[in-house]
Amino acid sequence: MSEKALDAAYLIDRLERLARSGELVEGLNPAQWDALRYLAQANRFSRTPAALADYLASTRGTVSQTLIALEGKGYVSREPSPRDKRSIELALTRQGERALKRDPLLVLAHDIAQAAGPRAELFVEILQQTLRNALARNRGRAFGICASCRHFCARVHPSSGSPHHCALLDVRLSDADSRTICIEQEPVAA
Ligand code: SF4
Repeated sequence: MSEKALDAAYLIDRLERLARSGELVEGLNPAQWDALRYLAQANRFSRTPAALADYLASTRGTVSQTLIALEGKGYVSREPSPRDKRSIELALTRQGERALKRDPLLVLAHDIAQAAGPRAELFVEILQQTLRNALARNRGRAFGICASCRHFCARVHPSSGSPHHCALLDVRLSDADSRTICIEQEPVAA
């Protein structure tokens, strides 16, 4: 392992601490911000307490407390899933969406944009590969983008408002769905 890789690991750790220290705003704690961010990105098959616990590598009990707090503050709602009445589907409320517009992580994103400029894409690729390595070691799920999933079939219903198809779940997918993250996602190259 190179010294530079260790330097990078220290820097990521320090940035993470700085970002977390700015998160005690809006009356939300870091775990609550994580949950809001997840719900903003996840598709309808993945907005469940169990998937959220998986994504955060947390326990269901901890996630349950986080969700109770967010529901109490009016940021998150829960409804029975239209696909399976025994499970529930979480969603951001308008208030939750508005809170994310003031997400403290936007400050870090701004700093990255300034520092990386046109190399931001390369920076993201390196971080994504680093995350894949860490997940593989921990046997974690990828939670990748739908359009990069091996089950994603693009434009098989071209005249429909949901032109794509999921071969695993056998459902139609819209362009918006294709940009979300999913608990079932399996990278094409896997
Ligand atoms: S194509 Fe993959 S990522 Fe998209 S909904 Fe289906 S399983 Fe999930």
